[in-house]
Amino acid sequence: MSGNPFETSLKTLHEAAAIGQINAEVVRLLEQPKRQFEFTIPVRMDDGHLEIFQAFRVHYCDALGQVKNGVRVVPDMDMDTAKALGFWMTIKHAVGGIPAGGGKGGIKADPSKLSRREYEALIRGFIRYLPMKGTWVDVPGADIGTHGQTQSWMLDELEAIQGFHSPAAINDKPIEANGTELSREATGTGAFFVTREVTRDLGIPDAASFAVQGYGNVGRVAAELLCQRGHKLVAVSDIFGGIENQDGIDVNALGAYVDEHKTVKGFPGCRDITPSELLEVPCDILLPAAVQSVIHEGNAGKIQAKLIMECANGPTTPEAEKILESRGVIIVPDVLVNCGSAIVCSFERTQGLTDSYWDRETVRSRLEERIVKAYQQTAAVAKELGVSYRDAAWVNALRKIEKAMLVRGWAWDQPK
Ligand code: NAD
Repeated sequence: MSGNPFETSLKTLHEAAAIGQINAEVVRLLEQPKRQFEFTIPVRMDDGHLEIFQAFRVHYCDALGQVKNGVRVVPDMDMDTAKALGFWMTIKHAVGGIPAGGGKGGIKADPSKLSRREYEALIRGFIRYLPMKGTWVDVPGADIGTHGQTQSWMLDELEAIQGFHSPAAINDKPIEANGTELSREATGTGAFFVTREVTRDLGIPDAASFAVQGYGNVGRVAAELLCQRGHKLVAVSDIFGGIENQDGIDVNALGAYVDEHKTVKGFPGCRDITPSELLEVPCDILLPAAVQSVIHEGNAGKIQAKLIMECANGPTTPEAEKILESRGVIIVPDVLVNCGSAIVCSFERTQGLTDSYWDRETVRSRLEERIVKAYQQTAAVAKELGVSYRDAAWVNALRKIEKAMLVRGWAWDQPK
């Protein structure tokens, strides 16, 4: 994220609130987190010295339900990042029709410099010292630097503190620790469902071509599903390089190559391109699925795709968006396209609460139902107000939060 990420979030809030004529008190309540915690985690390191780590947790807004979402362990973690991401999760949950508020947090640490014992102590310490926690307050999930193993430690620590099982209190757990099916593939699968709906509505044919930047968890799953539907994959990149073949790339052979070589670079039968050239190749649909701010003022004029599906968080800068909109390129925003994992995390919680675990097909079909509905609501607001999908997704989310705050009496209805 460039600049102060929290200030960028507030700017988006005010723009969307103006478009949707959102209640002024609701906007004021959303201008800061409901609660924020900064605390320390002391860890006895392997060499015997005591290290004290800084930790952050933001409960941004819980109007729609208890807060949930990731814990990030990175060397540059800070409160502004936690606030911005907590606010985005508030919006993403509302867009996805998820009965949860937005939370985010993290620890300022470099996991690659910790032994397994030190890392386990750090993660358990996060739960031990987190001031407010538990099933109905705050459900931490995984993010950068956290994964199934860390989530299992978190669950174990919380249950040891409470003295009873609480599988619905922690998300992104492995199946063996009361996790859910489809956890890993949720975001790519959700991005596929939204792409299918948008292309149907826009009359883009099933055989339309596409390019994917970032061939990790999200990009690869989405690409494989789009190819199964008949779309033609013409270019792919990862951090090491990119490949292009306008006749089409065999997605199954590419998957096997990536499993072996850990990169798409060098896949036979393709022209080598750089990761940034990927964004400019001829294609109908572009899926940025790597990192933020890759589509900017400098390259927005050269993008040839008609449709951009934002799989990564914040891949398009506001300046680029203006250029693309003026050229008639349609952008479907991150808060909608990549909300599949937030939806499946909410299913993980439902399964933990009811102590009944769904098979893969059930999770997949419920994800499809939920994310298609989220898309349809966004498309309806876009049509009603004559605005972009991004503005529509934010307005749709703010309207849901507004209704919840008004009915709870947090804000008073007043002339808009
Ligand atoms: P990943 O680490 O599995 O894969 C990322 C891919 O992007 C890799 O192929 C990597 O090589 C590539 N990459 C990194 N930097 C690049 C660059 N500068 N140029 C080109 N390629 C680059 O990550 P992921 O889980 O697939 O997530 C991808 C994006 O989606 C991230 O922005 C993430 O924040 C976002 N996202 C992920 C999820 C999820 O559930 N995994 C949910 C919401 C949003």
